[in-house]
Amino acid sequence: MNLDIIFKAKTPVKFGGAGKWKQDDASKLFSSSQSMKFSWVQGLICFDCGAAFDFQYLLKCTKCGGLLDLVYDLPQTNWADLTDNNFQGMWRFHKVLPIRNPAHIVTLGEGSTALIPAPRLARSIGIKSLYLKYEGTNPTGTVKDRTSSTAVSSAKQFGASAITVVSTGNAGASLATYAHRGEIPSVIFCYHRGDPIKMSHMSLMASKFCVFEGEYDDLIRSVDQCVEEGLAFDGGATRNSFKHEGKKTIAYEVTEALGTVPDFFFSPVAVGEIFIATYRGFDEMQQMGMVDRMPTLVCCQSMQAQPIVAAFQSGQPFRPTTIQPTIAKGVAVGDPGPKGPRVLEILRQHSGMALAVSDAEIQEAQSLLAESEGLWAGPTGVVSLAALIQAGRNKQIPSNSSSLCIITETGLTSPYPPAQGQVVKTSLEDVRRLFSCV
Ligand SMILES: [Zn+2]
Repeated sequence: MNLDIIFKAKTPVKFGGAGKWKQDDASKLFSSSQSMKFSWVQGLICFDCGAAFDFQYLLKCTKCGGLLDLVYDLPQTNWADLTDNNFQGMWRFHKVLPIRNPAHIVTLGEGSTALIPAPRLARSIGIKSLYLKYEGTNPTGTVKDRTSSTAVSSAKQFGASAITVVSTGNAGASLATYAHRGEIPSVIFCYHRGDPIKMSHMSLMASKFCVFEGEYDDLIRSVDQCVEEGLAFDGGATRNSFKHEGKKTIAYEVTEALGTVPDFFFSPVAVGEIFIATYRGFDEMQQMGMVDRMPTLVCCQSMQAQPIVAAFQSGQPFRPTTIQPTIAKGVAVGDPGPKGPRVLEILRQHSGMALAVSDAEIQEAQSLLAESEGLWAGPTGVVSLAALIQAGRNKQIPSNSSSLCIITETGLTSPYPPAQGQVVKTSLEDVRRLFSCV
């Protein structure tokens, strides 16, 4: 089997053909090399037709065009055997990540983020316990760093000469940063109304920073075409199965820290990367005998962009929708591509929940999070918490249950109305008086 797929600029990617690969054949297909031991990844499988493919960079099924995902040879194991403390952050879980040679890892220490108990918020929502997985401490302040690390590491693994993404902010800044770290040229596109701090960050890190003013869908089509021509590695969220694996480690970290899975797991959904990836993490842990159940997965969207929530609640097939502006720009997606139906399928198969929240509910969640627990997150970052607050209000979750919300970004890179501080005089007497009323 050819493990060294060559990926050159202006050279179309050479995809392997569909095979008849099965889990049981793994030992024959993959000899016990050192790189194999580093990762348990085996190959790719198509969700739609079941075709199996050798391990390679492949964006869609060559038989039916369907969405692909990675398959691992998962033994019965435990935390001590699964984790490797010679590595930092999410790379402690390298056995369930798709990089076969540690020399290809591009990292800035992403992962191992804090799991923060939120007892005051839990009380006000009316549930037994709440934990927040706070992703704002990742190197660029967002959960995207996990997927940027696996995307850029994969680009190195397959010898890519460049990497690209179309972004509304966080994804572009994060991917450009990791590409810079990994010395891979990046071409980063950002909507001209992106957040200024994020755009400055992108322009500093990207090899080519491009601001677009036209139709988003037109640009995506053009960039996807260039990616398929092999001009750059796909750093986008809609098709690249290597990229989303980084977010899978959230499920592992949460379960390792809690010693079990929470009853409800709230994830924001735009394209569906976090939702699908964490589902995969819980599913893998079940296969390895590390947990005996799956949490109730909750898909959280903005009311202005809720194609999955609308389909789930109406019982209809998935359909892309037209979106309206929302302050949660990171979830402003009306057409998530092939991952949209996949999220819907997981929700239906596993009796999940799907909730949409308004901008007012998002702002309320931002304020409550800051006031109750001392955490400042951006609007996109609190979509999951806003959905939990709504579910609590509507009595959709039992009061004796535990919940986890992924807080996906810091609030420090998002715009917010300027603070109105108290104007004070500087004399000792005036300053002393201020302390007397604290
Ligand atoms: Zn297929």
